Amino acid sequence: MKRLFLRVSCLLAVCAGAGQSQTLSPHWGELTANDFVKALAQSGGTCALPFGIVEKHGPSGPLATDLIDVRYATELATKQSYTIIFPEYYFGQIFEARHQPGTIAYSTKLQLELLQETVSEMARNGCKKVIIISGHGGNTNLIQFFAQTQLDTPKDYLVYAITGGGGGNGAAPNPAAAPSKPGVDGHAGEGEISNVMASRPELAHPERAGEESGKDQKRLDLPQGVYTGIWWYASFPNHYQGDAAGANAARGKAMAEAKANQIAAAIRAIKSDTMGPRLQKEFFEAAGHPTDTKQ
Ligand SMILES: [Zn+2]
Repeated sequence: MKRLFLRVSCLLAVCAGAGQSQTLSPHWGELTANDFVKALAQSGGTCALPFGIVEKHGPSGPLATDLIDVRYATELATKQSYTIIFPEYYFGQIFEARHQPGTIAYSTKLQLELLQETVSEMARNGCKKVIIISGHGGNTNLIQFFAQTQLDTPKDYLVYAITGGGGGNGAAPNPAAAPSKPGVDGHAGEGEISNVMASRPELAHPERAGEESGKDQKRLDLPQGVYTGIWWYASFPNHYQGDAAGANAARGKAMAEAKANQIAAAIRAIKSDTMGPRLQKEFFEAAGHPTDTKQ
């Protein structure tokens, strides 16, 4: 009898859990305070911070292209593996587009301070695994540097970052996600504008793609391995790389699904990661008295 009772409760618990996953929004700002607590339990203490930017996206894309695209892929991913999505965040590195209308470029100091305070506030609210999902190539170094700075003082949370592409789920690439021809992808090119068309087609203007050049102007002549911050402006002064003329919603949908699969695989792996938190705790303890570390 007791066994039967347990089984019934278990079934009910599963049903309640399944119901929850259908009704709880993944969006932080759409949850009530009470539902936020339930959402945290459902997300296993993970929260996503899709990191966009506001910058020119050639002649075809809206200023928030990267923010729209990364939030859409993240939202799709939460249907596979639930997590809480932090509100719109676009306070990143974009100095190289300051000469273009509509760009919002915060100071270096503020970028780091705001990211730290945002992550700290997420953690204080129970997000013990913060997943930063980069939607903008110009933020890659910032995000990786920020993740490294997490080791400066003890933390009770872990920052994970998804900054690269990568298939992630091992599935064969969908031919619908392939570019129409070589050289069309790049900043504000066919891929990015197709992605916008997957979720917000009314904001994309591929018919304007030819109004500016997205070709590499190759104005710098430096040997390989020499880096300078002006390299991007030297190559792509229109803040446009590639050609968005062939952008279409079908390609955007296929790309967004592939990205969502990659993000979902990462969320699943991060949820089950016990080694990262354990090693970080061990590291902070050892860093407090390095002379005791075995040599
Ligand atoms: Zn972009």
